[in-house]
Amino acid sequence: MELTGKEIAEMHKEYVMQSWSKSGGDVLPVEKAKGIYFWDYDGNKYADMASLLVCSNLGHELPEIVEAIKTQADKMCFMAPAYASEPKSKLAKMLVDLAGNEVYQRVFFTNAGAEANENAIKMARMVTGRTKIFSCYRSYHGATLGASNASGDWRRYAAEIGGANGFVHFMNPQMYRDGYTKGIDDKEVAKQYIEALELQLRYEGTDNVAAIIMESIVGANGVILPPDGYMEGVYELCKKYGILLICDEVMAGFYRTGKPFAWMNFNIQPDIITFAKGVTCGYVPLGGCIVSKRVASYFQENVLQCGLTYSGHTLACAAGCAAVQYYQEHNIGEHVTKMHEIVAEFMDEMVKKHKCIGESRCIGLFGALEVVKNKKTREPMQEYGVPGTVMPWIFAELKKRGFATFGRENFIEICPPLIITKEELEEYLPILDEVLTLVDEKYCD
Ligand code: PLP
Repeated sequence: MELTGKEIAEMHKEYVMQSWSKSGGDVLPVEKAKGIYFWDYDGNKYADMASLLVCSNLGHELPEIVEAIKTQADKMCFMAPAYASEPKSKLAKMLVDLAGNEVYQRVFFTNAGAEANENAIKMARMVTGRTKIFSCYRSYHGATLGASNASGDWRRYAAEIGGANGFVHFMNPQMYRDGYTKGIDDKEVAKQYIEALELQLRYEGTDNVAAIIMESIVGANGVILPPDGYMEGVYELCKKYGILLICDEVMAGFYRTGKPFAWMNFNIQPDIITFAKGVTCGYVPLGGCIVSKRVASYFQENVLQCGLTYSGHTLACAAGCAAVQYYQEHNIGEHVTKMHEIVAEFMDEMVKKHKCIGESRCIGLFGALEVVKNKKTREPMQEYGVPGTVMPWIFAELKKRGFATFGRENFIEICPPLIITKEELEEYLPILDEVLTLVDEKYCD
């Protein structure tokens, strides 16, 4: 017997432990999804303006990916990592080619993003023989022990109890919050932060540092666009001190910024690229590390002490092949660049029009609006790490009107599926404008 929406929600509340929340809270039961939309059991339709957790890059139920999964499922759902399978071999080559086969050579597959970072950290330690891992405070790298310790936001605290060794955090710039203006103060801010990082590396002992792990564009902490020259500065420090650069592309990768990988927006060359989400758009979980020739050659001579039962899962890799093929055949990068113009123009208009919007940040279809109580003082709508009621209210008002997204203390993410059309944007973006007017009236000084 099929359950009703109400029964599903009740059972979820009773039996499911909810991520990053207290258990037993209200939850929306979702029945189906298609394209940029999903529907609840009462038939209400929602535009997925955050690509769920910035993973449904190609929207929902894309026939090409669904067919690839079905075809593979009929043939062989899973073959163990020790064997070669067509989808795994094919996808590994496709990913190396996408990253640039003149520099990159091999892929280690994981089940998702945290494990990708976890294994990248282990590889960096093995290759360099060093221990310390530097990472940014304003970052998130996943919820397993190592990835969690590398993460910078509050979601790392539980993993730090008992902890993992060798994790060092440094402060990365967030120009608006630090009191600067992007496009004007970049040079000064980049210089200041790079000098501080170099000093910190010296105090930790540069010979002890295996890797710096960074999101190429920080995502879940507010789509933070680094000052021009900052990423290049970090890269130069890595080269100077023999430190590996791991670029976490879990959220920013697969054309989210218009380029295959977000690091390609900068003049840098990571040693390890970690990925997940957009590789299959979440249809089947998959993640991994694309490694440079230098890293690959180390593991030609030395045993890779990394392994997972489902590494290179056959069904997941079949989904990955279909997704990567779709991105390329449908010129998704170009489409993102076109849609970016519409979204960025709208977001800039929101800054001009609304008291509650202090800054807009958008690269490709990776965007966030900074929500403030007071535009002059830049006082955030909610302080970092302090639970509040205004932001949840904003997300609920948006959802009531069919605009589903998420954010945090002081930002709203706008990261729709990359296949979104001009007409869909024109239909849904005004909802955000309408809700921001309510925020101006109710919550701004
Ligand atoms: N890295 C980044 C940049 C992420 O945004 C996330 C998840 O949002 C992760 C890693 C963790 O990925 P997963 O939840 O698939 O383990």
